[in-house]
Amino acid sequence: MTSERSRETFRHDGRIVVVGASLAGLRAAEALRDEGFTGSLTLVGDEACEPYDRPPLSKQVLTGWVPADGTALPRRREIDAEWLLGVPASGLDLAGKRVELADGREVPFDRLLIATGVRARPWADRAEAALDGVFVVRTRDDSGRLWERLAAGPGRVLVIGAGFAGSEIASVCRERDIPVTVAETAEAPLVGALGSMVGSIAANLQRAHGVDLRCGVKVTRLEGDERGRVRRAHLSDGGTVDADVVVVALGGVRNTEWLRDSGLAAGVWGVACDSGCRAFDVNGLVTDDVFVAGDVARCPHPVYEYRFLSLEHWANAVEQAQVAAHNMVSSPTDRWPHLSMPAFWSMQFGVNIKSVGVPVLSDEVVVTQGSVEEHRFVAAYGYRGRVTAAVSFDNAKWLDHYRHLIETAAPFPPSCPTPDQPADMKPVPAHFPNSVIITQGATVVVTGYEPSERRVAFARPGG
Ligand SMILES: Cc1cc2nc3c(=O)[nH]c(=O)nc-3n(C[C@H](O)[C@H](O)[C@H](O)COP(=O)(O)OP(=O)(O)OC[C@H]3O[C@@H](n4cnc5c(N)ncnc54)[C@H](O)[C@@H]3O)c2cc1C
Repeated sequence: MTSERSRETFRHDGRIVVVGASLAGLRAAEALRDEGFTGSLTLVGDEACEPYDRPPLSKQVLTGWVPADGTALPRRREIDAEWLLGVPASGLDLAGKRVELADGREVPFDRLLIATGVRARPWADRAEAALDGVFVVRTRDDSGRLWERLAAGPGRVLVIGAGFAGSEIASVCRERDIPVTVAETAEAPLVGALGSMVGSIAANLQRAHGVDLRCGVKVTRLEGDERGRVRRAHLSDGGTVDADVVVVALGGVRNTEWLRDSGLAAGVWGVACDSGCRAFDVNGLVTDDVFVAGDVARCPHPVYEYRFLSLEHWANAVEQAQVAAHNMVSSPTDRWPHLSMPAFWSMQFGVNIKSVGVPVLSDEVVVTQGSVEEHRFVAAYGYRGRVTAAVSFDNAKWLDHYRHLIETAAPFPPSCPTPDQPADMKPVPAHFPNSVIITQGATVVVTGYEPSERRVAFARPGG
């Protein structure tokens, strides 16, 4: 049988298994059917419910605008799949091409997509984490429970961690007129993602909205009362915060434990794959039949010198799922690279924050449009004379322009595209706490818009 014929046979009668039935898993399943795959399709998910959307869980669900069970992901098309929900995958037999389930069943596949995402990092002390009133927010149930507790009118909420999720939850508390303290080890909120300069703006925003923001401190211990309810938090500076609700917002842990003995390059960093979404084995060799998409994937990006990026962005999960699905059923000569520019949004304290590119891979930042005082501006990030990222506060319409600058390795600082250029456009250090900086100047540019068209070309020095 020629490889073309075997590919056609696979497209008609093959078996594809998707592990992780959430955003990336569902969108990949839909894309597989769009691509003309008519074989058997199985989705395995450890959550018992159908796929739902997570961004509203720290925003509209907590304000009460959307009920927790009103977050189901819209279906783009019929996918005619077998759904194995409420049961986790517990192992992968790569040579035997079988996914092992925790209930003892085995699901054979010809091709596998891994889309198991991340889970919330729990509070490290188990007994303290189990106190009534201590929450994380990753699932629909988490958010529904926290909403109920906020609706009961707590005396004070303590949010541990001022990343995007923690800041959004603090914002909801203020919107609901609930006293809130935010404790953050870094010097300001959002510093890990956006650096000190933008972090200090986020700190002003929080304080202006009545948040009791404590930066440069660690929560060392949670204390409960005799009925097992959380009552107080102890801080590294010797202070205490009395709170009856504590939200632990310390980021995510990648769901890769089930792949521990699989022979894949899977670990705390995620599952490493090539830009065609094909998983690497533990030796760094690319596999042919195992693909990865979404928050669990760790994929090289040519614009950032082929660095492996682990992203927890909604748009990345959708776009990577589409590329993975296409490549799962296409010939090697028709594979697409996953080249979309990382993009993220957040809504907090009435401000729409969006970013494009990878701010953390920058060492300078400059406000190029608008006014920081009015919380309406765009800041561009750069590294060694090239634009690497941009973030907007209530000014998102310009981000496509900056995306183009990043993709074409445009010089930093960029010129301002509008008349609202600030008087002082002097770049300042971006300051990231754990910065891992790239070492070279720009080497490539990206062209094309659709995933089918997007390609990389090496940049020519000086032109
Ligand atoms: C509260 C919150 C707010 C967010 N807000 C934003 C935002 O404003 N903007 C933005 O860009 N992004 C946001 N995100 C991130 C965005 O939701 C994620 O990028 C997206 O959900 C990733 O989708 P995914 O399918 O890759 O992973 P996930 O959504 O994590 O789904 C993975 C699924 O796999 C399941 N699973 C795990 N292990 C197994 C196993 N062994 N067997 C079977 N199933 C398994 C999980 O339970 C889960 O259902 C937010 C996330 C959260 C939690």
